[in-house]
Amino acid sequence: MGSDHSNWRSDTLVAQALGWRDPATNAIAPSLHPSTNYARDENYQKFDDRTYTRDENPTHDQPEALLNELEGGADAMLFASGMAAATTAFWSLAPGDHVVAPDIMYFGLVKWLKEVGMPWGLAVDFVPTGDMDALAAAVKPGQTKLVWIETPCNPTWTVTDIAAAAEIAHGAGARLGVDSTVATPILTRPLELGADLVMHSATKYLNGHGDVLAGALITKADDDWWQRLKYLRYQNGAMPGPFESWLLLRGMRTLGLRVRQACAGAAAIAAHFDRHPKIIEILYPGLAAHPGHVTAARQMQGGFGGMLSIRVAGGAAAAIKVATATKIFSPATSLGGIESLIEHRATAEGGATPVPDDLLRLSVGIEDIDDLMADLEQALAKIEV
Ligand SMILES: *Cc1c(COP(=O)(O)O)cnc(C)c1O
Repeated sequence: MGSDHSNWRSDTLVAQALGWRDPATNAIAPSLHPSTNYARDENYQKFDDRTYTRDENPTHDQPEALLNELEGGADAMLFASGMAAATTAFWSLAPGDHVVAPDIMYFGLVKWLKEVGMPWGLAVDFVPTGDMDALAAAVKPGQTKLVWIETPCNPTWTVTDIAAAAEIAHGAGARLGVDSTVATPILTRPLELGADLVMHSATKYLNGHGDVLAGALITKADDDWWQRLKYLRYQNGAMPGPFESWLLLRGMRTLGLRVRQACAGAAAIAAHFDRHPKIIEILYPGLAAHPGHVTAARQMQGGFGGMLSIRVAGGAAAAIKVATATKIFSPATSLGGIESLIEHRATAEGGATPVPDDLLRLSVGIEDIDDLMADLEQALAKIEV
């Protein structure tokens, strides 16, 4: 069904979507299979091992194979959302198991761990996982089953050394899971650095067009744990719909181009607005002053990502004013799409957030970089400091 792509680089893999052809028609664009169920054959055997779409749907095969290839994994699974993918990793544990997770990470997952995972029985310690001493002190040999990291992490873009974190996790007998949503497989391949599981909110860069909710897990080994994750996706009904999966593959075909353009825009904005009189700090791993810069330069290839945060002089009111004054950056949540977004994270996360109230998170899209800079410049001109 596919061509030999063993020596293709990422851009070729995504543009060609592995070079698959529809076996029935030789169509180049992939087929969409909306059927929820599959008829048995004349011997009453399953046809192509398929019965019901909560378990398997052929529309997922190509995007899953592509993601697996991009990440260098043993297998990949799509989910209905990034949260469905991440929480499946935690549901696979048992009550009483110890977990180490970042103190700053995707806000929805912190909430889930505190309000669902911990009441269910997981023992979760939230520590600054980017600090290897803190991580080494937090793991409990024999008890810690999963170390979870996110790099670069929302919304400070703190960087975690994946190889060092893997060593600490494995030394304690735990697995390492990496939320690699922001890095994407274009910039970082966590499995090659020692991680056991990679998770993506495919809603973000992988799809990249702000019109699909989806998630993914990619595993280093097709082992008992992976089989349990598969079983949980099936039993929990965490499968995406075929149309989402089809759109996701369509979006992924431009992943390399989009990620590189977003990186270029974010780097240019960070450099231009660093030391701007209305900005007190820029958080971006591409800046030499960022605490994660050296590690990021080592484990991110070809860019430091399209996400950055700016801390606006004048506090929350000034920050919100900037977020309402931009004309190209839309004041909206989410990230990783073609159009640029600006968000006051403290408002998005609500009362108990550790995020400073003067922080604006920018998701840089693929627009003209000079237009983006001019837009931020005119919005900052609207505040007095
Ligand atoms: C959005 C996001 C998630 C959650 O993904 P959904 O697709 O919204 O469920 C998890 N991690 C990160 C880093 C995200 O940005």
